[in-house]
Amino acid sequence: MQDLYPQNEDQKHLSTVIESAPFPIAVYTGREMRITQANQAVIEVWGKGPEVIGKSYFQLLPELAGTPIYKQLIEVYDTGVPHHVRNQLVKLTVHGIQKEYYFNYSFSPLFDSNNNVYGVMNTAADVTDMTLAKQRAEFSEQNFRDMILQAPAAMCLLKGPDFIVDIANRAMLQIWGKPEEQVMGKPIFEGLPDAREQGLERVMEEVYRTGKPFYASEQPVTLVRHGKPDTVYQNFTYQPYRDADGSILGILATSVDVSQQVDSRIKLEKAYEQIQLSKKAAQLGMFDLDMEQGTMEWDERCRELFGIDHTEIVSYEHDFITGLHPEDRDRVTAAIDKLFSDPATGGDYDIEYRTIGVADGRIRWVRAKGKVYYSNSKPLRFIGSVLDITPQKINEQQLKDLAEKQARLAAVVYSSDDIIISKTLDGIITSWNPAAQRAFGYSEAEAIGKHISLIIPEERLSEEDYIISQIKLGKKVDHFETVRQGKSTHMVQLSLTVSPVVDENGNIIGASKIARDISTQLEAQQTAKSYTERLEIMNMVMSAVSEELDLNKILQKVTDATTELTGAKFGAFFYNTADQNGESYMLFTLSGAPREAFERFGMPRNTAVFHPTFAGEGLVRVDDITKDPRYAKNEPQYGMPKGHLPVISYLAVPVTSRNGKVIGGLFFGHPEPARFTAEHESLVISIAAQAAISIDNAKLFEEVKLLNDKKDEFIGLASHELKTPLASINGYLQILARMVSEERPKGFLEKATSQVSKLTRLVNDLLDVSKIEAGKLQLTVVPFDLCLVIADAVELVQHSTPKQRILFNGSFCPANINGDAQRIEQVVINLLSNAVKYAPAADLIDVEMAEREGSIVVSIIDHGPGIPADKLKNIFTRFYRIDEANPNISGLGIGLYLSHEIITRHGGEIWAESEIGKGCTFFFSLPQLTTRV
Ligand code: ADP
Repeated sequence: MQDLYPQNEDQKHLSTVIESAPFPIAVYTGREMRITQANQAVIEVWGKGPEVIGKSYFQLLPELAGTPIYKQLIEVYDTGVPHHVRNQLVKLTVHGIQKEYYFNYSFSPLFDSNNNVYGVMNTAADVTDMTLAKQRAEFSEQNFRDMILQAPAAMCLLKGPDFIVDIANRAMLQIWGKPEEQVMGKPIFEGLPDAREQGLERVMEEVYRTGKPFYASEQPVTLVRHGKPDTVYQNFTYQPYRDADGSILGILATSVDVSQQVDSRIKLEKAYEQIQLSKKAAQLGMFDLDMEQGTMEWDERCRELFGIDHTEIVSYEHDFITGLHPEDRDRVTAAIDKLFSDPATGGDYDIEYRTIGVADGRIRWVRAKGKVYYSNSKPLRFIGSVLDITPQKINEQQLKDLAEKQARLAAVVYSSDDIIISKTLDGIITSWNPAAQRAFGYSEAEAIGKHISLIIPEERLSEEDYIISQIKLGKKVDHFETVRQGKSTHMVQLSLTVSPVVDENGNIIGASKIARDISTQLEAQQTAKSYTERLEIMNMVMSAVSEELDLNKILQKVTDATTELTGAKFGAFFYNTADQNGESYMLFTLSGAPREAFERFGMPRNTAVFHPTFAGEGLVRVDDITKDPRYAKNEPQYGMPKGHLPVISYLAVPVTSRNGKVIGGLFFGHPEPARFTAEHESLVISIAAQAAISIDNAKLFEEVKLLNDKKDEFIGLASHELKTPLASINGYLQILARMVSEERPKGFLEKATSQVSKLTRLVNDLLDVSKIEAGKLQLTVVPFDLCLVIADAVELVQHSTPKQRILFNGSFCPANINGDAQRIEQVVINLLSNAVKYAPAADLIDVEMAEREGSIVVSIIDHGPGIPADKLKNIFTRFYRIDEANPNISGLGIGLYLSHEIITRHGGEIWAESEIGKGCTFFFSLPQLTTRV
């Protein structure tokens, strides 16, 4: 301790305190701040060596000039007010090196006895270490905060298990899209409720619990930002935030908003996808020829267009050139060679060619577009796309074909003989061919653009509405026969076929009309039609007339038919006939008028008008008979009598027999003039001719019938006359038989008797026939047992026929019926005799009985040659015999006729069945009696 100045006791005491103080103390005296006391501690602090006493503070510490310290010292000296400073940074040059210290220091005034300040005492505590430590701590905390706040990435510090937002920088706040005050100091999910339940809570808790950091990239988080939900893509990390001991205080979250990147990546991906899609949609194929590498790449579609199914490397030579259609190959390669060799072309490639598929052999049309890239005038790369244009090409071809077809069609339409017209749905004519011009007289120029009513007669305008309505329904109007009007108002008979005209979309846009002039055809048709009609009617009349044998009916039918056919108001058939005495007289039939209308006037006379008809001179047709020169030439009436049917149109035709004789005449009348035509003439003539034949036939038939009646009469008479002598012969023969006893004459007598009874039967039969014809066959009907009758007949026939055995099956007996037993026996004998007669070679005849539906059916079965089926139906007719079958068997052909008559008269039936070579069965049935006899 230096002591420069004399000291009093107090001062000495102070000096000692200063000297021994463990902290720096120094005393400066006077305004010049001369260091009068300084302890070791302060000397060390100053670092200027031990020689400090007596030196001015300002001298000793020049490095403090400019700091507040000098001023503070002077102020304390001048004011007497102490000055205390804490933690003041003081930079001292210690042993020549500047050092920083922190001091808590005080400048205290020192007063003399007069209470004047004579100096300043400086005490100080070196707090450098402490301050620095404190500062260091403060700095690192601040640093950390600053780091967070200034970080370009979004960062935040979430503290505690509730993740209270402690720090959050702007970037983070931006991501959150929330004002600072809404989130700061609050649990994160409270300030940011929209971030809840997206899995973040769990992740944070995990980090907080385990201390393991969590990383996520492009994590979508949906947050409500500026009022609307928004998906934010973030790359973020959650790192544990620990204190010095390593215990976890919270989570440090870093997040980079990559939404934009993700968005653009998604957009890019979409764009790429779209390109792929559109490429796919356009079915574009890609090729890439790299000349430097000598490689060629074809995508799948490109391969497809070349019909390649392998996936190996393709080459320009092997796949491209060979894949080209031979007809296109030179053209395509020449074009490519030109591009390769001449950069002046700009390298643009655009060509169409065909390929032939290697694998499938299919021909495809391809459009290729591309570009050659050059370097130093050398082709480097050739890139482009290929497109399948086969459908277009086919279309083109079809269009070409169509155009050709249309041209051909136009030529056909032009040269057609048929009228071909087309029109819109409104009826406006759009085409008109030369045939139309020929038919209607309008030229193409005159017709096109006009309405179709140009050629439609007024009264037929509605036809057009009908046709158009059909066309609108898509229907064709076929062979529509109508009339159209030409330029010179002439009418054209047409057969129209109108079809809808359809555009490529199937819409009906108009109609095409093909018409044929059928005027002549119609005429021919009409004639043909009337001919057929006439033929039909005639046929009908003829067949009706020819079937008829009744003269009167024939005449009536002919009169009716011809009156109707000619359209006459009335018709009459006058004909000559002869009575039994051969005297001729006139009969007539009428049509269209009552008989009285004629009867009053008597028969037509041989007047000038009627003469040509009755004389068979020919037909007379007059349009108005009252004006005919032949008319009204005769007395007394001179013309038609009063009250006569009014006849103006007159038609008359003679009806002449085969032998040339005029049978009569057909006369027709109509009250109006000119009603009969040439056609009516020929019609009536044909019918008259047929009528003549039928009348002849009817007359012949009448004659035959007359002869027949005479024959029947004769047979009746003859058989009647024969009966009496036969009966006498028979009587005499019986007497003779009783008188003769010798064998031989007796034998002759027996034979004679048998022949006589045969003859008697024949005569009886003939008599019966005439009785039947005269309707005089009498039956004596009583109940009897049919079995007994059959048994008698069998016995009788068997007696004269020892050769054949007749077997009667009587198991059915008795069989009671009502009838004439004798006549029935006649039938059975007849049938049995036929069986014997026509089956001479057979040895058995069966007779059987059966019951059927209330009748007893008797069958007589032989085993002879049988009867042909076509003859069977005739055998019951009078005088019918199958002569050719048995020319040597005699008979008259009346046995079955009689049998038929007898059975049917009994209410029964008779019929036969036969099989050639096997025999015949004749059946007859008779109604059974229910009460037994
Ligand atoms: P007829 O015997 O007198 O000729 P019918 O009226 O009895 O007359 O018979 C008519 C015809 O029927 C005979 O001519 C014969 O040709 C044929 N006919 C009848 N019965 C038989 C039969 N059982 N077998 C073959 N033909 C028969």
